[in-house]
Amino acid sequence: QYVLYGDKIVEREHASIDLEDRGYNFGDGIYEVVYIYGGKPFSMEEHFKRFADSAAKLEMKLPYTLETVNDLTVKLIEANKIHNGIVYIQMTRGASPRNHLYDRDSACLITGFARKMDPPVQAQENGIKTYLTEDIRWLRCDIKTLNLLGNTMAKRKAADHGCHEALQHREGTCTEGSSSNLFIIKKGTLYTHPATNLILNGITRQHILKIANEQGIDIAEEAFSTRDLIHADEVFLSSTTMEIAPVIAVTGDEEGEFPIGPVTRLLQKKLKEKIKKPTVL
Ligand code: PLP
Repeated sequence: QYVLYGDKIVEREHASIDLEDRGYNFGDGIYEVVYIYGGKPFSMEEHFKRFADSAAKLEMKLPYTLETVNDLTVKLIEANKIHNGIVYIQMTRGASPRNHLYDRDSACLITGFARKMDPPVQAQENGIKTYLTEDIRWLRCDIKTLNLLGNTMAKRKAADHGCHEALQHREGTCTEGSSSNLFIIKKGTLYTHPATNLILNGITRQHILKIANEQGIDIAEEAFSTRDLIHADEVFLSSTTMEIAPVIAVTGDEEGEFPIGPVTRLLQKKLKEKIKKPTVL
């Protein structure tokens, strides 16, 4: 397996991370996951734009231009001969003697790996069960940082209750999944939490909103409650790795069951078409 280490593609065993890398000590870093379909990354430009936005929000300096990061990522995919899979790219604030205070001029370290992975057809076709739990994360969920303990704990809780994904709420207001965005459909209107500091503005979310708009579906980027969730006509989640996964059940803080409805199926179909014939957002 080949990995990206700085600006080089090297064999995995030749890459080593310092014990005082700030990513390792503080979770001081950012990342992106891009899906590769038929050897081609989907929406890579949008992912790297968000990568640059996350870096700017954390006052991290990219060591190379976005174009170079893009080229290195393509090389990484090619070196590993990935047909269907993911490429993971992260950047930490690099190694320095452990100190909470960060230096705005630190030399950041970019690393990455690519892995074969088939799209989760089962989840897309049959839907998934979810576990509704309190959102205990910090208040900058708009940044795609390596600090993911709130997310990983929610996911663990969901799995412990036999569910595939967690749904999170802040005092009764639904935010998003542990690694996905949440949508509901009520009386033909598509609702999703607005892209504030409380959620990650998913690239898939943005594609879905654009498709819904093109399809003449009413869109409300408005916060909705856990009660609204339970009384929804259709519920689904979106992410780079899942695309659109219908939600068939919610347990946990509230309980409900949902059919896989026509709006979800239409959006799934249109998103798949877009993936096959990519257009820029
Ligand atoms: N929300 C969170 C917390 C995530 O971690 C992710 C993806 O990993 C998403 C939403 C979905 O974002 P995207 O569609 O860009 O994969």
